[in-house]
Amino acid sequence: VSWQHDGNGALRKVKDVRTHVGEVLALFREHGELSRTDVIDVSGLSRSTVNQRLGALHAAGLITDIGGGSSTGGRPSSRFAFNRSRAAFLTVDIGATGFVAALCDLGGEPFAHTQRSIDVWEGPRAVLALVDSAFAELLERSDAPEVWGIGIGVPGPVEFRAGRVVNPPIMTGWDGFDIAGWFAGYGVPVVVENDANSRAVAESRPRGADAVRHDDLISLKLGTGIGSGLVFNGQIIRGSDGAAGDIGHTRATASDSSAPLPCRCGNVGCVEAYAGGWALIRDLAAVGVPAADVAEVVSLVRRGNIEAVRLVRQAGRLLGDAVADLVSILNPGSIILSGQLAECGEVLLSGVRERVYQRSLPLATRNLSILVSSLGEFAGVTGLALITADQLFGTDNIDSLLTRLVPAA
Ligand SMILES: [Zn+2]
Repeated sequence: VSWQHDGNGALRKVKDVRTHVGEVLALFREHGELSRTDVIDVSGLSRSTVNQRLGALHAAGLITDIGGGSSTGGRPSSRFAFNRSRAAFLTVDIGATGFVAALCDLGGEPFAHTQRSIDVWEGPRAVLALVDSAFAELLERSDAPEVWGIGIGVPGPVEFRAGRVVNPPIMTGWDGFDIAGWFAGYGVPVVVENDANSRAVAESRPRGADAVRHDDLISLKLGTGIGSGLVFNGQIIRGSDGAAGDIGHTRATASDSSAPLPCRCGNVGCVEAYAGGWALIRDLAAVGVPAADVAEVVSLVRRGNIEAVRLVRQAGRLLGDAVADLVSILNPGSIILSGQLAECGEVLLSGVRERVYQRSLPLATRNLSILVSSLGEFAGVTGLALITADQLFGTDNIDSLLTRLVPAA
């Protein structure tokens, strides 16, 4: 829906008319393939305008002609497809103890990836230098594809427009650091996003013909720490300072009267201090079951270690308590768990389900599904590529991209 001035100086709503070339490209990003006739039907544009838009996108290599399509009368209408492999995005999903870096195609699909162990507490320079080396490795391995953008995911609140982390509860030394500026040497747009938000975006976009579309969802990232991302009506809810959805550092519903546990953020009684990966490692050590990292917690659960199963189930209930009010307030269609701890699967999921269905308003859970992400370790980089694509192909930037790709004859 867009707005136009009518002759009398009043704004009028123009329904579903996609006038801009970026909006025609958005149709291809959403549907993959469309015939010329499809574009005319969906956009409401005249044939000549559609021809001009398709011509511009085709000349830039953003869509490819894939031959004849269905005929709607007379001549068959030629079909076009979004050219996902026209260029690539460099993406990195940084967690507290490691990152996944990937080259993704323009549709968000990772086609080369690598991982590194890090300690996010070492600060931005040490971690981002490792990201640089991972990017160099990926570019070398993949015959240096054309890179059109960079997406960086971090486990803390992000001031999205500035590309900086703001007041991170755990990322000591990252506060205000110019992450986008660090990558300026690549000469492409850089997007910095909270890790749980990028996962939420990846979940919200359907992939494949029969994929389920999640328009209103809460994504829970469960790793060393706990984060959540909110996507409603297909848009990330960031809040006015980028802090929306940081449920890991909201107050946990303590089940007993003991003193609230200290959290990494300096506060006490946070959800993360009970249900975060680091808290589970602490609690396992206390009962004589050593686990060096979250991966070991997961493998203990999979092997049926009684203490690990008990603690992870309990963490699931506590998470469910933390999310239940959010469900009543926002009425999401899905809650999707990702991150290393989510690999515990049903053991974790059952606790979350139990409490959410028990404590949220019945109407808010009538159609709610609570599940583990099917994107695995690539949820973050996929979402980052999609967010970077949204920026690059958005109506603000698409014209300059096309001008660069197809210099005026
Ligand atoms: Zn905390």
